[in-house]
Amino acid sequence: MFIDYETFSHRADALLARIADTCATAGRNPAEVALLPVTKTHPAAAAEYAARRGFAAVGENRVQEGVEKRPQSPAGLRWELIGHLQSNKAKLAATHFDRIQSVDSEKLLGVLNRAAGELGRKLPVLLQINTGDDPAKFGAEPADAGRLLDTALALPHLQVDGLMTIGPLSDDPAVARRTFARLREIRDGLAARSGAPLRELSMGMTGDLEAAILEGSTLVRVGTALYGAR
Ligand SMILES: *Cc1c(COP(=O)(O)O)cnc(C)c1O
Repeated sequence: MFIDYETFSHRADALLARIADTCATAGRNPAEVALLPVTKTHPAAAAEYAARRGFAAVGENRVQEGVEKRPQSPAGLRWELIGHLQSNKAKLAATHFDRIQSVDSEKLLGVLNRAAGELGRKLPVLLQINTGDDPAKFGAEPADAGRLLDTALALPHLQVDGLMTIGPLSDDPAVARRTFARLREIRDGLAARSGAPLRELSMGMTGDLEAAILEGSTLVRVGTALYGAR
């Protein structure tokens, strides 16, 4: 059986305290670090809990799952795609998601731009960069990030909010920190060169959110600590 709302709400309290403690350690304002509840594999109630608790958005990693759950969920809630996106699903994703965090190729940028144009909207995106050099992970190579950004900035129907990465599987916190520091350094370099603010750094999940916040995360994506194991 799925958890009840009180359980979710207590876990959210604990998680927000964990984020606030880490911000205190880092000397950062907790208002700079948003929490994105990740509802993947959980019933539509997971998104309803998030909305009831005052979260503005939820994350899903598969297009089809978001498309199915969104109509059963509160209307004002925003939906973000955080999982790998294939070009043939890009139109569907642009139609049903408010932001796509997993944009990792020029081809995908082109397809999303065309879809957003057809929908008459400007679609917010994050560029996913594989700063952990993990061969099993999606995301553009760090060396290609500049070219990807230049392409994205030239497309009229996309708005680049920043960068996203997924931490390495290793449970060595030093490895996670290096991965997150590298994303921040890439962001700082690209922002200075392009003049685009690239404010958002989406990094950190249940197991590595402290390392991510210490390295500048503005958005932690959390499933397990809120909803339990999948
Ligand atoms: C599932 C998922 C998360 C949440 O992971 P937890 O470890 O359950 O917090 C975050 N980001 C992405 C891209 C995911 O696929």
